[in-house]
Order: sequence, then C-alpha cells, then structure tokens
Amino acid sequence: MELPPFRPPSEAFSYLIRVVRGCNWNKCAFCSMYNTIKFEQRRKEDILRDIDQIPFFFPKSKSAFLGDSNPLIHKDIVEIVRYLKLKRPEVERITAYARIKTIANIYEEKLRDLKSAGLTRLHMGLESGDDEILRLVQKSITSEDAIKAGKKAGKFFETTYYVITGLGGVERSEKHAKNTARVINEAKPTFVRIRNLTITNPEIGRLVKLLNAEEQLEELRSFLEGIKVETYFTCDHVSNYLFTKQGPIFKGVHGRIPEEKGEMLRLIDDTLETVKALKKSGNEVFTSNDMFRLGFISL
Ligand code: SF4
Repeated sequence: MELPPFRPPSEAFSYLIRVVRGCNWNKCAFCSMYNTIKFEQRRKEDILRDIDQIPFFFPKSKSAFLGDSNPLIHKDIVEIVRYLKLKRPEVERITAYARIKTIANIYEEKLRDLKSAGLTRLHMGLESGDDEILRLVQKSITSEDAIKAGKKAGKFFETTYYVITGLGGVERSEKHAKNTARVINEAKPTFVRIRNLTITNPEIGRLVKLLNAEEQLEELRSFLEGIKVETYFTCDHVSNYLFTKQGPIFKGVHGRIPEEKGEMLRLIDDTLETVKALKKSGNEVFTSNDMFRLGFISL
C-alpha cells in the first residue's frame, strides 16, 4: 500500500489514499513538500487495491483523505471516489488537497459528479490574496482565480483556504493582510487555516525579510480584523506558535467569525503586550523559524 507523504492535521485519523504522486506544479518558492517526487497519476487498479486493503492498515474511521497535492486531476477520480464510498460505507467525509488553478478551470459538472460520488471537502492553498506576492512566490494563481475557485467549489463542498502569514515579508505585510482578507471575503471558504512562513525551502528566504514575533502578531491581527464573512478561523499548526526559553506563550487563535472574532483579537492584543514586555525586560521570544533552525520543532 502507498500512502500520501503529507496530510492536513485535521486528517490525522482519516484513511489516507494516494491518488497521484507529488505536485503537478511543484514550483512555489516557499514549498519543499514534493521537491524530490516526480509527478505521476497512479494506476487506477493500484488505487482501488489500496482501498480494498484499508481495513488491514487503518483503524476504523469516518473520514478519508485523498493525496498527494492535486488528486482531482486524476482521469479516473470520480470512479475512485465512488469506489471508496462503496467499499467503505462508514466514511462520511471524503476530502482532498486541490490546486486553486485546477478548481478555477474545472467544469462545474465534474464537481457535481464528485459530490454525488461522495467527495465532501477540499483543502486549497491560497497562501496570499495579494497578486504581487503570488507572483513573487511563483504560486501561478491570481487573486481572481482564488475568488472564482472558492465560489465554484463552495457550491458543492466545504472548503478550506490555507493562508501563510509572513509570506510577503516585512515589506509587504500590510498589503498581504488586507488583500488576503479581501479574497476570503469574496471566496467565503468554510475554514481559514493559518500557517506562519517557516523556511524549509531556501529560495523564499532570499525573497522576503522574515517577520519577528511582534510583526507576526500584528499581521495576524490585521488579517483577522479584515475578515467580514462567516467562517471558522484557526491557527492549527505549530508554525503559528511563539516561544520563550520556558515554552510556548502563544498557540494561535481559533474560533468562529463573527461570534468569536472579538475574543481572538483580544488574545492577540494581550500576547502582543506580553511579547513587548518580555523583550523590554531582556527576554527573547522565538518564532517558528527560530525553533525550526534550532531543531526544536519539525514541520
Ligand atoms: S504549495 Fe502546493 S502547488 Fe505549490 S509547490 Fe507546494 S504542493 Fe505544489
């Protein structure tokens, strides 16, 4: 059985099914996930055999995740999802990573077929809603693609948009927050999941100046403040954490917008005050980049 090398944290207990290997774009400057993997569509027969073998490899689950980075471009994807649903009727949620470009260009008919086959949620990497930043990091999408993809996919599935704080560096921080909130307000994803830029690919380190702890919090605050639509906002990844030598002092914010937005903003403001006070008294505050470099966290 072949497994996808990556899956979102929210799929930790899902059946994992590898539909394609690697990423068919594989050029984003901040990403090293599939750098060493040649993109390929797996043979349908092999995927169906993996689905047959699920009970031998996984404890019983009500969810399944399709990898690697863009499985919806597999020519037999509808049949694969249908087979999964047939063989594993206990599965209520079937999710997949999907490229925004693919969803912006896909026929709605195909999405409708995927929904009736059993697909329920798409995880899509927006990263930024600012076109200059998207060009800079070679994401190969525009903010318009992201709005189009979000609106289209939202008719059929729950959607997650991933956003990377710090992706524009210090110099573009304000524009990044403002324009990304604008895209979220138009695309209206069900979930907004935050990752903070952590250098795993040296290319991005040459393109942007990394945010320090205060700048990271200020950008997060400004982005969150700008979101006016209903969604679930979560920093569900260790890259959002801030640390002192004693341990984490910030683990991100999580909650529904609009109901819990005020509470999340207050937590960010309180943490900003704490960081300033710590620095004033000579204590260091470490971001995920510091911790990754020092080998204390892995991503
Ligand atoms: S961020 Fe997504 S689209 Fe870009 S290279 Fe990585 S996996 Fe591929």
